[in-house]
Amino acid sequence: MKTFQELGIDVETTKALREHGYEDPFPIQQEAIPLMLKGLDVIGQAHTGTGKTAAFALPILTKIKRRGPIQALILVPTRELAVQVSAEINKFAKYTGIRTVSIYGGQSIGIQYDQLRRGVQILVATPGRLIDHIKQGSIDLENVKFVVLDEADRMLDMGFIEDIKFILFYVNEDRQTCLFSATMPPEILRLAQEYMKEFEEVRLNEEELSLDTIDQSYLIVYEKEKFRHLCNLIRIRDKKQTIVFAATKQRTHRLASELKQEGFRAITIHGDLTQRQRDNAMYRFKRGDEDILVATDIAARGIDVPAVGHVLNYDIPEDPLIYFHRIGRTARAGATGKAISLVSQDRIDDFGRILRQTKHPIRKLNEEMGVEVPAVQRHHTHSRSFSRRYQGYEYGNQNRDRWSRGTRYRKDVGNRYRQAKRHDRGYSHRGHYSHSSYRNSRS
Ligand code: AMP
Repeated sequence: MKTFQELGIDVETTKALREHGYEDPFPIQQEAIPLMLKGLDVIGQAHTGTGKTAAFALPILTKIKRRGPIQALILVPTRELAVQVSAEINKFAKYTGIRTVSIYGGQSIGIQYDQLRRGVQILVATPGRLIDHIKQGSIDLENVKFVVLDEADRMLDMGFIEDIKFILFYVNEDRQTCLFSATMPPEILRLAQEYMKEFEEVRLNEEELSLDTIDQSYLIVYEKEKFRHLCNLIRIRDKKQTIVFAATKQRTHRLASELKQEGFRAITIHGDLTQRQRDNAMYRFKRGDEDILVATDIAARGIDVPAVGHVLNYDIPEDPLIYFHRIGRTARAGATGKAISLVSQDRIDDFGRILRQTKHPIRKLNEEMGVEVPAVQRHHTHSRSFSRRYQGYEYGNQNRDRWSRGTRYRKDVGNRYRQAKRHDRGYSHRGHYSHSSYRNSRS
């Protein structure tokens, strides 16, 4: 295994890495850093928690000029992730003089103007707010040499696809583009074909993902008894900091207030809170003033609190992917963690899908905790594999190879396609198109 310096990261950055306890590169960093330093476009399939931020940030810090205009643009789906990624990069950049700033909706645009005026080389942004700046002329992307699409699948889920295309139209084609995504649905590959040059793929096997340090289990319970079981699980936990996931913001509120009535220190985080309230909740949770964070999925994106030892799913998500994102909030940076799901009978099918999609064991806790499986479920018909799981069998996922290793796309195809499209629409590179007219022109 190579050290960061042997991979080609500059001396100042490796010094900062050492200070922050980064001894050896994580697998995704081993693979992606040399490719990016060579100047290639990279697609990385990686969950949060695998070290993907450093995988793209370190080569950028090594390659860009230490002064001057914005040279790298990192697009992220949420403000939490924007704050987290920029903080992480600023840590690495301590001895380089390179400045990273995050721009996201919900923060005063005045503060952002001030930050931009002071000079920025790396910009981390959510798409909507960045478009506001582009339209107002307060951000110039002309000198951007690196674009990173972080959590690309999430950005697509959140409806940012047209925004991303709008933004990429303003970035010089002579750039390196990287895309990181936990999943690779066809839309992501289409985006890559359209906007990336010949790219290299970096894909970790499951064993290398952080999920294998998470002890996963579930308890089948009556819906009306979920809260009692939740309190019990909280009482018997062996690490304090805990995230409880609920399906809606109303449920996070109710749960947090009921937990407080039980004497727990709980706080909520969801998409309807103001940025200040969210920052405050995260601050209190990180400091340990509150040890239970009751969250919805959107708000929890990108939460990186190393001390989180438990993720409790009070409600089961319909999409297995969301389950994997949720449990990735624990066992950060190689630590261990526990993820326990409360499965009520109406959510058994959803949980069955999760069980079928993972190679990792997810234990059923009913017997060891002495909780009887609700009677109705014994007569419920499940898909065959779930019923077998339910009896203690474990299955691997057979659907992982949705795309093949080593895919290469020819550079000129994407470029010609882009040029032709621009020509059709009469675009000039720095044209005066409003966002909506761009949208209309596509329909
Ligand atoms: P990320 O996937 O970028 O969110 O990173 C997950 C966590 O791993 C963060 O807390 C990082 O600070 C930490 N981390 C990333 N790379 C390393 C490394 N090579 N050594 C130690 N910690 C790391």
